[in-house]
Amino acid sequence: MTDLLGPAMPFLKLAGQLCAVFYVVFHLSLVFWVVRDAQRRGAMAWFWGVATLFFGVLTWVVYMVVRPPETLDDAHERELEIAARESEMQRVGATCPHCFKPIESDYLICPTCMKQLKKPCANCGRPVKSSWSVCPYCKTRQAAGERVADAPHEAAPAPNESFADAAAHAEALAGANTPKKKKAAPANSEA
Ligand SMILES: [Zn+2]
Ligand SMILES: [Zn+2]
Repeated sequence: MTDLLGPAMPFLKLAGQLCAVFYVVFHLSLVFWVVRDAQRRGAMAWFWGVATLFFGVLTWVVYMVVRPPETLDDAHERELEIAARESEMQRVGATCPHCFKPIESDYLICPTCMKQLKKPCANCGRPVKSSWSVCPYCKTRQAAGERVADAPHEAAPAPNESFADAAAHAEALAGANTPKKKKAAPANSEA
């Protein structure tokens, strides 16, 4: 056996020495890598460095499992981004409910995602929310296209009208009746 391996012995010895050198270099670079990575993630670099020096790849496997998911730089950048977005939202105020891009309060559609935000009033053309039944600027009812104050007094309030609308109707009715009576009284006395 030794006779057979005799001529190859120097080569085997050299290969073994190369393997040993490679192992030492690999081990030290592993320690270096773990220490540097732990420093970037703020995770007790000295502890992981010493542990890797003693247990090598085993420590590296454990470290890869328990290391913090993001580096300190990433965390700092994320915080900055959140703060910037918050300040932007406070400054601009309204954002599109669909794509969250900043919008002005009088936009009819979102310029970014084309979602309809408001519709133009049937009478004055100013932006009115689709949920509003009456234009707050010119008092025009959006479904019928007629003004609330100008609605005929005889017409009974529609069942779907809100209490505020009904109250406005009653007020208009009372306001219209009082001058009529005053007007009618002198006419009767004259006749
Ligand atoms: Zn949008
Ligand atoms: Zn209007």
